[in-house]
Amino acid sequence: MITRTATPPRAPRRAAVLREVAVTAREQISERMLRVTLGGHDLAPTVHDAPGAWVKLFVPLPGGAGEHGRAYTVRGFDPIRDEITVDIFLHDGGTMTAWALGCRVGSPARIGGPRPSGAPGASAASLLLFGDETALPAISAMLEREHRERPAHAIVELGSPGDQQELELPPKASITWLLRGRTDAPGSLLVAAAPRARLDPNTGVWFAAEAHAAQEFRRLLRPVQLSESHTQGYWRRGVGDHQE
Ligand SMILES: Cc1cc2nc3c(=O)[nH]c(=O)nc-3n(C[C@H](O)[C@H](O)[C@H](O)COP(=O)(O)OP(=O)(O)OC[C@H]3O[C@@H](n4cnc5c(N)ncnc54)[C@H](O)[C@@H]3O)c2cc1C
Repeated sequence: MITRTATPPRAPRRAAVLREVAVTAREQISERMLRVTLGGHDLAPTVHDAPGAWVKLFVPLPGGAGEHGRAYTVRGFDPIRDEITVDIFLHDGGTMTAWALGCRVGSPARIGGPRPSGAPGASAASLLLFGDETALPAISAMLEREHRERPAHAIVELGSPGDQQELELPPKASITWLLRGRTDAPGSLLVAAAPRARLDPNTGVWFAAEAHAAQEFRRLLRPVQLSESHTQGYWRRGVGDHQE
Protein backbone atom coordinates (compact mmCIF):
# COMPACT_ATOMS: atom_id res chain seq x y z
CA MET A 1 0.00 0.00 0.00
CA ILE A 2 1.28 3.47 -0.79
CA THR A 3 -0.19 6.63 0.63
CA ARG A 4 1.16 10.02 -0.30
CA THR A 5 -0.23 12.86 1.71
CA ALA A 6 0.72 16.43 2.48
CA THR A 7 -1.48 16.49 5.57
CA PRO A 8 -0.95 14.69 8.89
CA PRO A 9 -2.90 11.43 9.46
CA ARG A 10 -6.54 12.25 10.14
CA ALA A 11 -7.46 9.69 12.75
CA PRO A 12 -5.19 7.80 15.13
CA ARG A 13 -5.23 4.02 14.85
CA ARG A 14 -7.18 2.28 17.54
CA ALA A 15 -5.62 -0.81 19.06
CA ALA A 16 -6.56 -3.95 17.13
CA VAL A 17 -8.86 -6.29 19.04
CA LEU A 18 -10.47 -9.58 18.14
CA ARG A 19 -14.20 -9.77 18.78
CA GLU A 20 -16.61 -12.67 18.62
CA VAL A 21 -19.53 -12.02 16.25
CA ALA A 22 -22.31 -14.05 14.67
CA VAL A 23 -24.20 -13.65 11.40
CA THR A 24 -27.54 -11.92 12.00
CA ALA A 25 -28.60 -11.44 8.35
CA ARG A 26 -27.44 -12.08 4.80
CA GLU A 27 -28.71 -10.46 1.62
CA GLN A 28 -27.72 -10.78 -2.02
CA ILE A 29 -27.38 -7.12 -3.09
CA SER A 30 -26.16 -7.73 -6.65
CA GLU A 31 -25.34 -10.67 -8.89
CA ARG A 32 -22.10 -11.50 -7.03
CA MET A 33 -22.17 -9.38 -3.90
CA LEU A 34 -23.48 -10.77 -0.64
CA ARG A 35 -24.13 -8.42 2.28
CA VAL A 36 -23.48 -10.13 5.59
CA THR A 37 -24.54 -8.54 8.88
CA LEU A 38 -22.52 -9.47 11.94
CA GLY A 39 -23.77 -8.86 15.46
CA GLY A 40 -21.72 -8.82 18.63
CA HIS A 41 -21.14 -6.94 21.85
CA ASP A 42 -19.59 -3.47 21.89
CA LEU A 43 -18.69 -3.35 18.19
CA ALA A 44 -18.34 0.47 18.12
CA PRO A 45 -14.53 0.27 18.55
CA THR A 46 -14.32 -1.80 15.34
CA VAL A 47 -15.68 1.16 13.36
CA HIS A 48 -13.22 3.78 12.18
CA ASP A 49 -14.06 7.47 11.82
CA ALA A 50 -12.75 7.59 8.24
CA PRO A 51 -15.01 6.13 5.52
CA GLY A 52 -13.98 2.90 3.82
CA ALA A 53 -12.07 1.57 6.84
CA TRP A 54 -11.79 -2.18 7.11
CA VAL A 55 -11.61 -5.08 9.51
CA LYS A 56 -10.06 -8.51 9.27
CA LEU A 57 -12.83 -11.07 9.17
CA PHE A 58 -11.92 -14.51 10.54
CA VAL A 59 -14.19 -17.45 9.74
CA PRO A 60 -13.88 -21.11 10.77
CA LEU A 61 -12.55 -23.48 8.13
CA PRO A 62 -14.56 -26.63 7.44
CA GLY A 63 -13.83 -29.61 9.69
CA GLY A 64 -12.30 -27.49 12.47
CA ALA A 65 -9.14 -26.93 10.40
CA GLY A 66 -8.49 -23.49 11.91
CA GLU A 67 -9.52 -20.02 10.82
CA HIS A 68 -9.40 -18.11 7.55
CA GLY A 69 -8.91 -14.33 7.80
CA ARG A 70 -9.29 -11.71 5.06
CA ALA A 71 -9.76 -7.93 4.89
CA TYR A 72 -13.30 -6.55 4.45
CA THR A 73 -14.56 -2.98 4.43
CA VAL A 74 -17.07 -2.02 7.08
CA ARG A 75 -19.97 -1.00 4.86
CA GLY A 76 -22.36 -0.13 7.66
CA PHE A 77 -22.67 0.08 11.43
CA ASP A 78 -25.82 0.03 13.53
CA PRO A 79 -24.93 1.13 17.07
CA ILE A 80 -28.40 0.32 18.46
CA ARG A 81 -28.34 -3.29 17.25
CA ASP A 82 -24.56 -3.49 17.70
CA GLU A 83 -24.07 -4.81 14.15
CA ILE A 84 -21.68 -4.17 11.29
CA THR A 85 -22.23 -5.09 7.65
CA VAL A 86 -19.66 -6.29 5.16
CA ASP A 87 -20.21 -6.79 1.42
CA ILE A 88 -18.47 -9.94 0.22
CA PHE A 89 -17.69 -10.25 -3.49
CA LEU A 90 -18.36 -13.83 -4.56
CA HIS A 91 -15.36 -14.53 -6.80
CA ASP A 92 -14.47 -17.98 -8.13
CA GLY A 93 -12.25 -20.14 -5.92
CA GLY A 94 -12.51 -17.99 -2.80
CA THR A 95 -12.54 -19.55 0.65
CA MET A 96 -14.40 -16.51 1.91
CA THR A 97 -16.81 -16.88 -1.00
CA ALA A 98 -17.54 -20.45 0.12
CA TRP A 99 -18.03 -19.33 3.72
CA ALA A 100 -20.34 -16.47 2.70
CA LEU A 101 -22.46 -18.72 0.52
CA GLY A 102 -22.76 -21.29 3.31
CA CYS A 103 -23.21 -19.01 6.32
CA ARG A 104 -26.54 -18.80 8.06
CA VAL A 105 -27.99 -16.69 10.88
CA GLY A 106 -25.98 -17.70 13.95
CA SER A 107 -22.79 -18.69 12.07
CA PRO A 108 -19.81 -17.61 14.20
CA ALA A 109 -16.91 -15.39 13.09
CA ARG A 110 -14.40 -13.00 14.60
CA ILE A 111 -13.32 -9.53 13.57
CA GLY A 112 -10.12 -7.63 14.23
CA GLY A 113 -9.47 -3.98 13.58
CA PRO A 114 -10.34 -1.39 12.41
CA ARG A 115 -7.76 -0.10 9.97
CA PRO A 116 -8.08 3.12 7.91
CA SER A 117 -8.67 3.06 4.16
CA GLY A 118 -6.44 5.96 3.17
CA ALA A 119 -9.49 7.91 2.00
CA PRO A 120 -8.55 11.44 0.89
CA GLY A 121 -9.04 13.96 3.66
CA ALA A 122 -10.59 17.38 3.90
CA SER A 123 -7.69 19.17 2.24
CA ALA A 124 -8.49 17.71 -1.19
CA ALA A 125 -10.60 20.06 -3.30
CA SER A 126 -12.09 17.18 -5.29
CA LEU A 127 -12.01 13.38 -5.16
CA LEU A 128 -11.23 10.84 -7.83
CA LEU A 129 -11.73 7.23 -6.75
CA PHE A 130 -10.85 4.12 -8.75
CA GLY A 131 -11.78 0.56 -7.83
CA ASP A 132 -13.10 -2.87 -8.75
CA GLU A 133 -15.84 -4.94 -7.08
CA THR A 134 -13.78 -5.44 -3.91
CA ALA A 135 -13.28 -1.68 -3.59
CA LEU A 136 -16.92 -0.82 -4.26
CA PRO A 137 -17.90 -1.02 -0.54
CA ALA A 138 -15.15 1.47 0.35
CA ILE A 139 -15.93 3.76 -2.59
CA SER A 140 -19.64 3.71 -1.70
CA ALA A 141 -18.86 4.60 1.91
CA MET A 142 -16.56 7.43 0.81
CA LEU A 143 -19.07 8.92 -1.65
CA GLU A 144 -21.97 8.68 0.80
CA ARG A 145 -19.96 10.56 3.41
CA GLU A 146 -19.28 13.47 1.03
CA HIS A 147 -21.47 16.07 2.70
CA ARG A 148 -19.12 18.80 1.57
CA GLU A 149 -19.67 20.80 -1.57
CA ARG A 150 -16.71 19.26 -3.37
CA PRO A 151 -16.91 17.26 -6.59
CA ALA A 152 -16.32 13.53 -6.16
CA HIS A 153 -16.12 11.08 -9.03
CA ALA A 154 -15.66 7.33 -8.91
CA ILE A 155 -14.61 5.00 -11.73
CA VAL A 156 -15.64 1.44 -10.95
CA GLU A 157 -14.68 -1.63 -12.98
CA LEU A 158 -17.02 -4.62 -12.92
CA GLY A 159 -16.90 -8.04 -14.54
CA SER A 160 -20.67 -8.20 -14.93
CA PRO A 161 -23.37 -5.51 -15.41
CA GLY A 162 -25.38 -7.36 -12.74
CA ASP A 163 -22.93 -6.11 -10.12
CA GLN A 164 -23.75 -2.46 -10.64
CA GLN A 165 -25.40 -0.99 -7.54
CA GLU A 166 -27.88 1.84 -7.07
CA LEU A 167 -26.23 4.19 -4.61
CA GLU A 168 -27.65 7.28 -2.97
CA LEU A 169 -25.11 9.92 -3.87
CA PRO A 170 -24.71 13.51 -2.69
CA PRO A 171 -25.32 16.20 -5.37
CA LYS A 172 -21.73 16.60 -6.55
CA ALA A 173 -20.85 12.90 -6.61
CA SER A 174 -20.99 10.67 -9.68
CA ILE A 175 -19.90 7.20 -10.83
CA THR A 176 -18.70 5.87 -14.16
CA TRP A 177 -19.14 2.10 -14.48
CA LEU A 178 -16.68 0.23 -16.72
CA LEU A 179 -17.39 -3.31 -17.90
CA ARG A 180 -14.41 -5.68 -18.01
CA GLY A 181 -14.42 -8.12 -20.90
CA ARG A 182 -13.48 -11.79 -20.47
CA THR A 183 -9.98 -11.22 -21.85
CA ASP A 184 -9.28 -7.97 -19.96
CA ALA A 185 -6.87 -8.24 -17.06
CA PRO A 186 -8.55 -7.25 -13.80
CA GLY A 187 -8.06 -3.57 -13.13
CA SER A 188 -6.78 -2.85 -16.65
CA LEU A 189 -9.77 -0.65 -17.51
CA LEU A 190 -9.08 1.47 -14.44
CA VAL A 191 -5.46 1.90 -15.43
CA ALA A 192 -6.51 2.80 -19.00
CA ALA A 193 -8.96 5.39 -17.65
CA ALA A 194 -6.36 7.15 -15.50
CA PRO A 195 -4.62 9.21 -18.24
CA ARG A 196 -8.02 10.50 -19.39
CA ALA A 197 -8.92 11.73 -15.91
CA ARG A 198 -8.21 15.33 -14.93
CA LEU A 199 -5.65 15.14 -12.17
CA ASP A 200 -4.80 18.51 -10.74
CA PRO A 201 -2.68 18.91 -7.60
CA ASN A 202 -5.73 19.52 -5.40
CA THR A 203 -7.43 16.26 -6.35
CA GLY A 204 -7.41 13.52 -3.75
CA VAL A 205 -6.89 10.25 -5.62
CA TRP A 206 -7.69 6.80 -4.22
CA PHE A 207 -7.23 3.47 -6.04
CA ALA A 208 -7.88 -0.12 -4.93
CA ALA A 209 -8.12 -3.18 -7.17
CA GLU A 210 -6.00 -6.17 -8.27
CA ALA A 211 -2.33 -5.77 -7.21
CA HIS A 212 -0.72 -5.74 -10.70
CA ALA A 213 -3.13 -3.00 -11.77
CA ALA A 214 -2.33 -1.08 -8.58
CA GLN A 215 1.37 -1.33 -9.41
CA GLU A 216 0.75 0.04 -12.91
CA PHE A 217 -1.47 2.83 -11.53
CA ARG A 218 1.28 3.86 -9.08
CA ARG A 219 3.74 4.07 -11.97
CA LEU A 220 1.37 6.34 -13.94
CA LEU A 221 0.85 8.58 -10.95
CA ARG A 222 4.52 8.95 -10.05
CA PRO A 223 5.17 12.11 -12.13
CA VAL A 224 1.89 13.76 -11.06
CA GLN A 225 1.95 16.18 -8.13
CA LEU A 226 -1.03 15.44 -5.89
CA SER A 227 -1.84 16.65 -2.40
CA GLU A 228 -3.16 13.21 -1.46
CA SER A 229 -3.12 9.81 -3.09
CA HIS A 230 -3.51 6.24 -1.92
CA THR A 231 -3.01 3.18 -4.12
CA GLN A 232 -3.50 -0.36 -2.85
CA GLY A 233 -3.74 -3.87 -4.26
CA TYR A 234 -6.79 -5.37 -2.54
CA TRP A 235 -6.03 -8.83 -3.94
CA ARG A 236 -3.48 -10.44 -6.24
CA ARG A 237 -4.35 -12.70 -9.15
CA GLY A 238 -3.36 -16.31 -8.39
CA VAL A 239 -2.31 -15.56 -4.80
CA GLY A 240 -4.34 -16.11 -1.65
CA ASP A 241 -4.14 -13.70 1.28
CA HIS A 242 -2.35 -10.95 -0.63
CA GLN A 243 -1.08 -8.23 1.72
CA GLU A 244 0.78 -5.00 1.03
C1 LIG B 1 -8.15 -3.19 2.88
C2 LIG B 1 -8.97 -4.21 2.07
C3 LIG B 1 -10.36 -4.12 2.06
C4 LIG B 1 -11.10 -5.06 1.33
N1 LIG B 1 -12.48 -4.95 1.32
C5 LIG B 1 -13.21 -5.88 0.64
C6 LIG B 1 -14.64 -5.83 0.66
O1 LIG B 1 -15.26 -4.98 1.32
N2 LIG B 1 -15.32 -6.77 -0.07
C7 LIG B 1 -14.67 -7.75 -0.78
O2 LIG B 1 -15.33 -8.57 -1.41
N3 LIG B 1 -13.32 -7.81 -0.81
C8 LIG B 1 -12.59 -6.92 -0.11
N4 LIG B 1 -11.22 -7.00 -0.12
C9 LIG B 1 -10.58 -8.04 -0.94
C10 LIG B 1 -10.56 -9.40 -0.25
O3 LIG B 1 -9.91 -9.31 1.01
C11 LIG B 1 -9.81 -10.40 -1.18
O4 LIG B 1 -10.50 -10.53 -2.38
C12 LIG B 1 -9.58 -11.75 -0.54
O5 LIG B 1 -8.52 -12.37 -1.24
C13 LIG B 1 -10.78 -12.67 -0.57
O6 LIG B 1 -10.46 -13.82 0.17
P1 LIG B 1 -10.81 -15.30 -0.33
O7 LIG B 1 -10.71 -16.19 0.85
O8 LIG B 1 -12.15 -15.26 -1.01
O9 LIG B 1 -9.73 -15.63 -1.42
P2 LIG B 1 -8.16 -15.97 -1.19
O10 LIG B 1 -7.99 -17.23 -0.40
O11 LIG B 1 -7.48 -14.76 -0.63
O12 LIG B 1 -7.67 -16.23 -2.68
C14 LIG B 1 -8.03 -17.40 -3.43
C15 LIG B 1 -7.91 -17.10 -4.91
O13 LIG B 1 -8.90 -16.16 -5.28
C16 LIG B 1 -8.32 -15.08 -6.01
N5 LIG B 1 -9.07 -13.85 -5.70
C17 LIG B 1 -9.08 -13.13 -4.55
N6 LIG B 1 -9.89 -12.06 -4.68
C18 LIG B 1 -10.39 -12.11 -5.95
C19 LIG B 1 -11.29 -11.28 -6.67
N7 LIG B 1 -11.85 -10.18 -6.16
N8 LIG B 1 -11.59 -11.64 -7.95
C20 LIG B 1 -11.05 -12.75 -8.51
N9 LIG B 1 -10.19 -13.57 -7.87
C21 LIG B 1 -9.87 -13.25 -6.61
C22 LIG B 1 -6.87 -15.03 -5.53
O14 LIG B 1 -6.06 -14.44 -6.51
C23 LIG B 1 -6.57 -16.49 -5.30
O15 LIG B 1 -6.13 -17.08 -6.52
C24 LIG B 1 -10.45 -6.08 0.60
C25 LIG B 1 -9.05 -6.18 0.65
C26 LIG B 1 -8.31 -5.24 1.37
C27 LIG B 1 -6.81 -5.37 1.42
